[in-house]
Amino acid sequence: MQSSENENHSILLAGREVQFTLRRSARAKRIKLQVSLAAGLEVVIPARAMVSLSKVEGFIREKQRWVLKHLTKIEKVSEESSSKKSLLLFLGREVPIKVKESKRKTPRAFPENGSLTVKVPIGKRQMAGRAITAFYKKQAAGIIPKVVREKSALMLAFPKRISIRDQRTRWGSCSSRGTLSFSWRLVAAPRSVIEYVAVHELAHLKHRNHSKAFWHEVESYCSEYKQAEKWLRENKHILRARTTFAE
Ligand SMILES: [Zn+2]
Repeated sequence: MQSSENENHSILLAGREVQFTLRRSARAKRIKLQVSLAAGLEVVIPARAMVSLSKVEGFIREKQRWVLKHLTKIEKVSEESSSKKSLLLFLGREVPIKVKESKRKTPRAFPENGSLTVKVPIGKRQMAGRAITAFYKKQAAGIIPKVVREKSALMLAFPKRISIRDQRTRWGSCSSRGTLSFSWRLVAAPRSVIEYVAVHELAHLKHRNHSKAFWHEVESYCSEYKQAEKWLRENKHILRARTTFAE
């Protein structure tokens, strides 16, 4: 007899609440613990065994060190994969990446049917990251200056130069000589956020500080600036990430 019902429980281990699933298995000969990325902590018990919850809890407590060690490990992995995933944002949308091996000698990334296809030389999948970075830089060089020029004309604020750089500390900046610089990683942001960063830096051509007058200028060309600031704060890791995409 096998019950298909899995039961969810939680237990306090070293001051930490740990969720676990109780799963009955016809194949299991004895009670055992499993930790996986997909299911977290699972306690597998033989289908026909009479095992009380307190016995299960006692068993988990006995193996507490093992459980916590493995849970920490999978949490790290899932954190890493989710931050990698967010790096694949393009204009605020998550873009799936498809890596394909081809006879080309140099890797190349290009949009195809709603995803980003990366063609890499056979056996060289590790080159995908470089190709994706090149794609982002090229897109940034096209999109960001265009947005800046549009806002510049509206605000009657004209930069001497617009530069797209590999800066990791700031999304955008304004030099005393009137050069506006932007990180190419800004193309991960929704267009409205790119517009805000452009307005922010252009406003610095008139106000070289963050005074009330400065924010008034920003607000008159970007009424949703607080939401954009929030997005930038929440996605700071994109700016700081050292590794590029899909590596
Ligand atoms: Zn500023």
